[in-house]
Amino acid sequence: MGAGVLIIGAGQAAGALAAALRQGGYTDPITLVGAEPLPPYQRPPLSKALLKGEAEPDSLLLRPAAFYADKAIGLRLGTRVQAIDRAARTVSLSDGSTLSWSTLVLATGSRLRRLAVPGIDAAGVRELRTVADAQAIRARLTPGSRLAVVGGGYVGLEVAASARALGATVTVIEREARLLARVASQTLSAFFATSHQAQGVTLLLGATVSGFEQADGAVSGVRLADGRLIDCDLAVVGIGALAEDALAVAAGLACEDGILVDESARTSDPDIYAIGDCTRRPVPRYGIRMRLESVPNALEQAKQAAAGILGQPAPRAELPWFWSDQYDLRLQIAGLPIGVAREVVRGDPAGKRFAVFHLDAENRLQAVEAVNSVAEFAAARQWAAAGQVLDPARVADAAIPVKQIPEAPAA
Ligand SMILES: Cc1cc2nc3c(=O)[nH]c(=O)nc-3n(C[C@H](O)[C@H](O)[C@H](O)COP(=O)(O)OP(=O)(O)OC[C@H]3O[C@@H](n4cnc5c(N)ncnc54)[C@H](O)[C@@H]3O)c2cc1C
Repeated sequence: MGAGVLIIGAGQAAGALAAALRQGGYTDPITLVGAEPLPPYQRPPLSKALLKGEAEPDSLLLRPAAFYADKAIGLRLGTRVQAIDRAARTVSLSDGSTLSWSTLVLATGSRLRRLAVPGIDAAGVRELRTVADAQAIRARLTPGSRLAVVGGGYVGLEVAASARALGATVTVIEREARLLARVASQTLSAFFATSHQAQGVTLLLGATVSGFEQADGAVSGVRLADGRLIDCDLAVVGIGALAEDALAVAAGLACEDGILVDESARTSDPDIYAIGDCTRRPVPRYGIRMRLESVPNALEQAKQAAAGILGQPAPRAELPWFWSDQYDLRLQIAGLPIGVAREVVRGDPAGKRFAVFHLDAENRLQAVEAVNSVAEFAAARQWAAAGQVLDPARVADAAIPVKQIPEAPAA
C-alpha cells in the first residue's frame, strides 16, 4: 500500500474527488487537509438559503460526516498545509506534523479580493466565503437594518436579494457603470438592475468606495470617492476572488494567476493534480485557458483527477455552466460569450422569462443566459457545446417551440 492521495483543501472539489476515488475502487489511503472546521460543504446556499435562514449548516454538507469514516477517508480539519516538499513527497501542516503522499491534489479554492481602504477592518464590515461568514452576516440582518453591499457581482446581488427578503434596507455600490459588468451581457445587467430596484434596492453604479466610517467601534457608513456617505449598520464586500495558488507557486509548479492544469487536471508535475477555483484550465470548446469559479467546474475537474489517478481515460470535456438565484429569478448560463457577433433575445425581460443567445459571426451558438427559462437553457447547453448554427430570426420567434429552433434538415 502506498502513501496514497493527499488532498489540500476540503471544499467542493476535494469532497467530490475523495468520493469519486472510493467509488472508482481506489483502496490506498485518502486524506483531506482542510483549513475550515467543517467537512466538505456547498457554498452556493451561503448567499441564498442559509443567509435567509431557510437552511441549516448541516444541510450544506456534501456527505454526512460519517461517510468519511465509513469510506476510510481521513479528514484533518481546522488544519492548514503550510508547505509542499515535492522531492520528499510530504506536506507540512500548521499543527507541526508532516504527511506523506504518492499523489498530491491541490483543491485550495480561491480567496476574496480585499478592498484596500481605511476602515476595512471595522466591526460590521464583512466578506462572505464560509459558513461562519454567512452566520455572522445573518445575525446582523434584521428588518430595518441597513446593509451596504460593495460589489454588484453575483455574490453581492444574491446577498442583496436575501437581505431584502429579511426586511433589511439595501444599497448596492458598484464601481463599474453596470451590474455584473465582467460576467453578463448588457441585457442581463439591465434586467437585474431593474429587478433589484423593483424590490426596493438602491443601486449606486459608477461609485468607488474610498473608506468605511465608524461610530462606537463599528461601521456606520460607506464613504464614496465623490464624498457621498451611505449610512449602514453592516457592509458586505464582494469584489471578486483570486486563485489560492500560493502553495503551488512556492512549490515551483507552473502558475499564471491560478495553477496551470491540463484536461486531466494535471499540473506541471505529473504526480500533482489541481482542481476547482485554484486552477487555470483549458476550455477546449473555445480553445482558451481560463479560471472558472463554479460548482460545475469543481465537479468536472474532480472527475478528471479521479480518472487520472485511477488510470482511466480523461472524461469528455463539459461546457462551462453556472447559475444564480435572486428573488424569484433563476439565472442559468451555459457556455462562454467568446467571439460573439450578435445577441438575440428570446422571450420578454418584462415578464421575467427570457434568454439571451450569443451567436458568433457564422451564427454558431457560443453561450446562453437564461432567466426562468429551463427549456431554453437545457437545449442551448447542448447546442453551444456542439457549436450549432441557429437562425437568429427563429431564435427570437417565441412562437417556435425551443426544440424546433434549429431548422429541419432539407428533405
Ligand atoms: C457565497 C458564494 C456563493 C456561490 N454561489 C455559487 C452558485 O450559485 N453557483 C456556482 O456554480 N458557484 C457558486 N459559488 C462558487 C463555488 O462555491 C466555488 O466555485 C466552489 O466552492 C469551488 O470549489 P473548490 O473546492 O475549488 O473551493 P472551495 O469550496 O472554496 O474549497 C477550498 C477549501 O480549501 C481550503 N484551503 C485553502 N488553502 C488551504 C491550505 N493551505 N490548507 C488547508 N486548506 C486550505 C479553504 O479553506 C476551503 O475550505 C459561490 C461561492 C460563494 C462564496
